[in-house]
Amino acid sequence: MRRTNTFEVVPQSEQDEGVLRRLLDASASLWNQLTYDRRQQFFAGDTVWYCDGYYDEYVDVLGSATTQQVTRVNDAAWRSFFETVEETDQKVSPPGYWGNQADGRDLRTYIRNDAYTINWGECSRLEVPIGSQLKDEYGFSQFERLQVAVGGAPHWQGEQGRLHLTYDDVDETYRAHQPVTVTEVEQATPTGTDIAALDIGANVLVACTTSAGNQYWYSGQEPFRQFREATERIADAKAKLPEGRNTSKRIQRLYRKRSRRRDHAVNALLRDLVERLHDDGVETIYHGDLTGVLGEYWSVEANLKARTLWAHRQCLDQLANVCEEYGIEVASISEAWTSQTCPECGERERTRRHRETLTCPCGFEGHADLVASQTLLEQATNTAVRPTARPVRFQWDDHQWSPVEGDAVGPNE
Ligand SMILES: [Zn+2]
Repeated sequence: MRRTNTFEVVPQSEQDEGVLRRLLDASASLWNQLTYDRRQQFFAGDTVWYCDGYYDEYVDVLGSATTQQVTRVNDAAWRSFFETVEETDQKVSPPGYWGNQADGRDLRTYIRNDAYTINWGECSRLEVPIGSQLKDEYGFSQFERLQVAVGGAPHWQGEQGRLHLTYDDVDETYRAHQPVTVTEVEQATPTGTDIAALDIGANVLVACTTSAGNQYWYSGQEPFRQFREATERIADAKAKLPEGRNTSKRIQRLYRKRSRRRDHAVNALLRDLVERLHDDGVETIYHGDLTGVLGEYWSVEANLKARTLWAHRQCLDQLANVCEEYGIEVASISEAWTSQTCPECGERERTRRHRETLTCPCGFEGHADLVASQTLLEQATNTAVRPTARPVRFQWDDHQWSPVEGDAVGPNE
């Protein structure tokens, strides 16, 4: 089973950062030259497999292992492109460039699995090979490799695959993505028997109830504020465009930044939640099937919010990925009525929802999204669920989701 460790890479000096940038930039340059040649050949109806001659140009900067590795990944991208073309009658695009004319090259590279070393410890270090020209320029000795600090700890242990190094120009962060082959024994196995249900929403991003009676909810307040702010910035930039133009480098960048921040918050949320549920002994997670229900019970604004902020399909895919890591099953269940059914008496025609609060003629009053997740869970398990403790609210601070301490306000904030 293949898994990926991702960690931050931190050059310890300006010189080291200079070397790292050169390594990534030269790799992207090699990738783009190969890609350009192959695209020309492809569109001219020629074979793309006679495309060498770049080795000598790059080996002094990248070293031979990395020059070959980048070339091989490019080969593989084209092979997989041709395979897809054969297997599908849909239109498929040939492999593309790293970066574009307007924003420049993406800084990335691939390091062969046996060419790099990571030493985990108090000061974890990654060592990658560099070419002789870089060694001379930056005063490295003949057999020295570039050493950079890495942050975090590996989530997965196993045989290491080729390392993917990237630079994120929005976060201004270097990252390493390390695939590892995890052996059977180390695979996550289901440890519990509990079940959880998730209500995926707008103001509350996720509300969750477990069969043990725990309730969690993740506030959408901060992510929405950021999203709205970014959207306003995009609108401002658009208003300032010269006549006849409808986009610019800056606007593209703002869009990218907005989606990256959103993805960051959502991915962190899913991981935080799944880890928590795994610790709780949950082995199956149900989520509402939004199709057909969206819009029917939600206000237009909330609906729009949810759709924009949650790239929904992408989010469910990510949920499935994280759950697979933890050996948790994921299933969807119809969400019809769940957001307006009273958990006390089952009434669903005469309940009223005002903002976050659901009220019932029987006297029940509760947080609508939490109620929805509870009802979803009851429908999935055919068993009544009684929340056993106060719901825990989580808030996003741009880095992590944390439980709100001493949350006296409760869910009806
Ligand atoms: Zn009721």
